[in-house]
Amino acid sequence: MAFLSVQPRPCTDPNCRGQHAPAERVALAMSLCGARGVQLTTLRRQILELLWESGQPTGAYELIEVLKLRNSRPVGPPTVYRALEFLMSQGFVSKIESHNAYVPCAHPERRQDCLFFICGDCGASVELADPRIEQLLAKMAADLGYRVTRRVVEVEGTCASCAAASAA
Ligand SMILES: [Zn+2]
Ligand SMILES: [Zn+2]
Repeated sequence: MAFLSVQPRPCTDPNCRGQHAPAERVALAMSLCGARGVQLTTLRRQILELLWESGQPTGAYELIEVLKLRNSRPVGPPTVYRALEFLMSQGFVSKIESHNAYVPCAHPERRQDCLFFICGDCGASVELADPRIEQLLAKMAADLGYRVTRRVVEVEGTCASCAAASAA
């Protein structure tokens, strides 16, 4: 895992289309925590920073390895999982279930459900939110009389740049 990508990255949110620098998104998370009356502890902030720097869906054990190097002491898996649970509960991080990996959310202020497109070649993920899909899922669940406890929408394939590279 290379932690080099700290440049601003293009946002995939159709309502945004801006560029987000990791440091600026971490600062946003800190101010949201202040407004919500919850604590972005050092470990929670470090994990969010690592996920932003990574630029790739990152597994908990990779995070534990890097945290050990950065902090010069081991961090136990339960501690890291608890921090990830907190970050997910605040909408700062999403889990890509099919890869058992975590990605930072660009717009935690909106707290929306997302779906993911995941490239099987380079591993990059694109996060999208579309109210039409949420409405459709809600309607289907209601028609079935289904009470939804968890919803995962993940699409795997080849991203545009990998498809272009393989065509070249
Ligand atoms: Zn954005
Ligand atoms: Zn790709």
